Amino acid sequence: MISVFDLFKIGIGPSSSHTVGPMVAANTFLAALQSQVDLASVQQIEVELFGSLAATGKGHATDTAILLGLQGHKPNTIDTRYSEDYLAPIYNEQLLSLAGQHNIQFDAERDIFWHSDIVLPYHPNALTLRAIFADPAANSDHTTQHRATFQQTYYSIGGGFVINEADADNPEVDPANPSIGAIPYPFNNAEELLKQCQTHNLSISELVMANECHYRSSEEVVAYLDDIWAVMQACVSQGCQTAGVLPGGLNVKRRASALYQQLTLELDRPEAKNDRLQAMEWINLYALAVNEENANGGKVVTAPTNGAAGIIPAVLHYYRDFDESFSVSGAHDFLLVATAIGSLIKQNASISGAEVGCQGEVGSACSMAAGALAHILGGSVAQCLNAAEIGIEHNLGLTCDPIAGLVQVPCIERNAMAAVKAINAARLAYRGNGEHCVSLDKAIQTMKQTGEDMSDKYKETARGGLAVYADSRIPTASIGVTVNYSQC
Ligand code: SF4
Repeated sequence: MISVFDLFKIGIGPSSSHTVGPMVAANTFLAALQSQVDLASVQQIEVELFGSLAATGKGHATDTAILLGLQGHKPNTIDTRYSEDYLAPIYNEQLLSLAGQHNIQFDAERDIFWHSDIVLPYHPNALTLRAIFADPAANSDHTTQHRATFQQTYYSIGGGFVINEADADNPEVDPANPSIGAIPYPFNNAEELLKQCQTHNLSISELVMANECHYRSSEEVVAYLDDIWAVMQACVSQGCQTAGVLPGGLNVKRRASALYQQLTLELDRPEAKNDRLQAMEWINLYALAVNEENANGGKVVTAPTNGAAGIIPAVLHYYRDFDESFSVSGAHDFLLVATAIGSLIKQNASISGAEVGCQGEVGSACSMAAGALAHILGGSVAQCLNAAEIGIEHNLGLTCDPIAGLVQVPCIERNAMAAVKAINAARLAYRGNGEHCVSLDKAIQTMKQTGEDMSDKYKETARGGLAVYADSRIPTASIGVTVNYSQC
């Protein structure tokens, strides 16, 4: 089982695989480096980005995330309001403070290599970090061109998960959770999950909670669920208060704050009260707010990725604001059920846009939210799995084609659409008896197969679909390109 601690991570925008993961890789590299050598012996750092990380890394702030990580900032604790201040010495004075302790010269033009045409074997999102030492006698794993170096290659496999090259070569290691042991209620697919719940007379949330408590105290798990829910609410709130234009050059206007003002004003109007689709407008708002924050490099919860970070919070806010039975423990249950669904998808297919397209990101989040909401509505385990299946089935084939490599268009609006779809899926399933023609396991397998068949153009490379659509003014992959595009 993949833990709620793995699947829902507090991180920064705009991308879990291209921003959070690379920052985690930089943190991991720094720790490994410090365990081997005195940081003072490091003279230079080089960064090599491969495949999708290089193709859309500029738009996803991969380079700056790595630099912040090398400074010692972590995705869950960094104060994103000051990211530019932290980066200023690097770009203005070419000074990188390794772990905040040792200053080295760093020239982003010279020291970052963008290999968009090279895809490493294990995963399209790969990066190599290399420290070059002043003293050739210092520790060296490899010696290149007479310089002592220490280097590591990492794969950012989606949702902020990162593994190093050694683990990628070791089939014994579960990339999602290398330390997994014997949990009380293991399951590898939806059928096994259903059986475990039936055999032990547990709901999905009870089962997941019991598994989580195998590793941590229930207080720790509850505290983490509280943290996630708090960050989701803060993110919606911040998104509703912030107007302006998103960074990156597409000049995409933030819409959530204006929509929030409109909807708040309309609350007292009788015509709004008669509008039966008011809830849908608020769901749109919640999703837009989160994804605009994400696109702006703000603090979000990967759910299960950053690009799809708005769907689960939007459906949870719908539960909070439109369901009188709302309780915080209900929100916890929601997140635990979503964890079970997300872990099924991650284990048996993928949650990475670079691997299977957007069906793995927005599709997975839609499925997770649908299953979780069905549970909140009072659905049986079979109904929850049916809802999750509907949520993924109607996102099969969804491509990843962000314009200019930015997580803005179509990503932001796509989250609003998927949040509404998730609610519909939950309600459809709740009206049924849990029986369905296509099982969740089959839908997940289909997603995997569809991803394998999908052209690489549609897997987070910004080389196909909307990313290169009709208007030639929009650059394709956004490597180093400042877009001057008046309206988008
Ligand atoms: S299109 Fe989907 S998978 Fe691709 S960056 Fe946007 S949200 Fe992520």
